[in-house]
Amino acid sequence: MDLVKTIKEHFSERLEPSTFHSRFFWRTAESLARSPLNRPQWKADRVSLSYFLAITRDAYLGRGPVVWCNLFVPSELVLGLGCIPFYPEMATAVVAAAGMGPRFIDRAAEAGFSPDACSFHRCAIGLALEGFMPEPSALLAVNYPCDSAPLSFAFCGELYGRPQVTVDIPLPGRPGGQALLAQQLEETAGLLAECSGFGGAEVEKGLAKALERSNQALRYLREVEEMRKRDDCTLYGVDAMGGISVLFASMGSQAGADFYRLLAKELRTRGCAGGDSIRLMWMHIKPWFAQGIFSTLAKGGARLVCEEYTHATWEAMDPHDPYNSLAAKLGNHFLVGPVERRATHLASLAEEYRVDGAIHYNHWGCRQSCGGAALVKQALQEKGVPTLILDGDCVDEREYQEGQISTRLEAFLESLR
Ligand code: SF4
Repeated sequence: MDLVKTIKEHFSERLEPSTFHSRFFWRTAESLARSPLNRPQWKADRVSLSYFLAITRDAYLGRGPVVWCNLFVPSELVLGLGCIPFYPEMATAVVAAAGMGPRFIDRAAEAGFSPDACSFHRCAIGLALEGFMPEPSALLAVNYPCDSAPLSFAFCGELYGRPQVTVDIPLPGRPGGQALLAQQLEETAGLLAECSGFGGAEVEKGLAKALERSNQALRYLREVEEMRKRDDCTLYGVDAMGGISVLFASMGSQAGADFYRLLAKELRTRGCAGGDSIRLMWMHIKPWFAQGIFSTLAKGGARLVCEEYTHATWEAMDPHDPYNSLAAKLGNHFLVGPVERRATHLASLAEEYRVDGAIHYNHWGCRQSCGGAALVKQALQEKGVPTLILDGDCVDEREYQEGQISTRLEAFLESLR
């Protein structure tokens, strides 16, 4: 059972903003998720599904202060401060998976937003303008990987009349950069504490707990990564990419730690698939509405063994030094700073996972992915990794040419044999 499609079938007739504020809607969604007909690929997916349903339900039902975040906002900070994180970029992925991206993208166009801007954010703005988003208490963006979130959150902050904060990550290697970032995170924590009413002791305790849970999740995630480096680990890339949301939005929750613990356990039990697949790396994000691309890969005997955004990029953190720890996690990310850092990182990832080839999915309007694609391709090819660049869109299906993409993919796979 595809949960998003089933919910759409149940509610599409009466889909209006009030639907998401109704307890009945959330009870139905939760019981569909628990139903034996909903058989996720991995047991861990049940944990992530119930976590995301719970926080999204709480956000829409106003069960706590809601903080809009872009992907780079460390969820440990928001959860540790007793707030409900809400990720508009993830909401638009769900909307795209339900085939409803164009409706909200067009709404943003009517309001004057350029088609050159990222469709994740155009769709999010359309949803906000139509009243489909949960009302934020505050909006928190990090200025990486791009400026789409700071700009669209600034617009939405005005729309809702709520404070919007952008955390500015200093360039790598800048003297005092980490301390500066830690200070910004501490100031941001002050704003979140005002939203949740947390006092000093609660802040300290909440953050320590969130960082401990995040460290637990990291240990299991590293285990998963080691298994994926082996031949034909049974976790297929398209499923792993569904876990991007877990990696970015559940660190600091018990669900995040449980997700990776269960996934590691199940991978150990299921073992290797065997065979001699073509090992591929996927760069940037996948189109959320189309799965044809992945059937072409499977038919061509290829497996995605690693993806740009599903692996850990940080070290264990000190629960008693949260701001410095989170600053190190954020500031050391390979997307921060010049694009050469990203290219070098991806080239070493390709080596570590012994990939035979790599695919770069160019999301329309994305300065971060399209802008760096040629340089990334060059870095990979210098390491002997053939690289295919595919143009498309992650949210707007009208910008995705299935036939053309399949033909290019088939030819690429043929060249790797
Ligand atoms: S897809 Fe690209 S442009 Fe859009 S938010 Fe992500 S990094 Fe920014």
